[in-house]
Amino acid sequence: MHIKELFGKKTVFSFEVFPPKKTSPVEVIYDTLEELQGLAPDFISVTFGAGGSGNSKYALEIASKIKESGTIPMLHLPCINFTKAEIDAALGEAQQRGIENILALRGDINPDIPPVDDFHYASDLITYIKSKGDFDIAGACYPECHPDAADMIEDIKNLKAKVDAGADHLISQLFFDNESFYAFREKAAIAGINVPIEAGIMPVVNKNQIERMVTTCGASLPAKFVRIMTKYEHSPEALRDAGIAYAVNQIVDLVASGVDGIHLYTMNKPYVARKICEAVSGIIGA
Ligand code: FAD
Repeated sequence: MHIKELFGKKTVFSFEVFPPKKTSPVEVIYDTLEELQGLAPDFISVTFGAGGSGNSKYALEIASKIKESGTIPMLHLPCINFTKAEIDAALGEAQQRGIENILALRGDINPDIPPVDDFHYASDLITYIKSKGDFDIAGACYPECHPDAADMIEDIKNLKAKVDAGADHLISQLFFDNESFYAFREKAAIAGINVPIEAGIMPVVNKNQIERMVTTCGASLPAKFVRIMTKYEHSPEALRDAGIAYAVNQIVDLVASGVDGIHLYTMNKPYVARKICEAVSGIIGA
């Protein structure tokens, strides 16, 4: 089933998982998948290393496993470090396994890996995928601007080009300040971007994540968020509960503001996903 058909009928609620390290067998994620699928998300997306991580072969296997177990899978597919032949192989395998939904991405540019020249932007990949079969294609978007873009205006113009190339719907980068998402959504609408946009929500539930947020993600950290994280950073259980509560608050406000969907970055943690689902099941279904 094409994910685009889900929008408009309800608030779409999806999960994201990442494959295990290549030094572990793929099966180590199966229990996690089973628990997440038990929460009945509308679909589960599987990340795919842009190159270098070596575990990208697992992404297709995991997406297949999700489909076999009765949930719609979405395969992430970054292009910057792959040749057309490698993209053809991934798309061919996806088709063979009945995986119809692709999140088409550029991938981050790794200074240690010279980019392959076949695709420069996600929009190039989208045009290419469209020529290869009947896929539902999603794209990424950035409520607080993609770090490589000169400014938000340039980034939104590029996003419009990505949608015009054929992105059926969008999933946002994580953010902690809903106001930034609302401002972005308005700018996107003014630019004529009228496909559904899912809001990416990451519950921050441990200290390592806080450090990563501060150094790499570029999301602005509202005073309320910083206060909570500072207060509980040395108390693992309190931090976990506070992170879940913060994410729940974000979701309640987003749904009240008519968001098309919520994409939960589960970090492969079923406990956290379950607590969030329990807290919002009534409002997601309303
Ligand atoms: P693009 O849409 O190509 O944009 C990249 C930059 O180029 C932006 O600054 C944009 O403004 C600019 N740009 C776009 N088109 C043009 C143009 N025609 N001319 C000039 N400039 C242009 N990475 C992975 O490796 N694997 C994953 O599984 C993965 N999953 C992700 C899931 C989500 C929901 C998100 C939000 C990101 C994910 N990423 C993943 C990270 C993503 O690959 C990076 O953020 C990457 O830097 C940009 O990818 P993109 O597809 O948004 O790129």
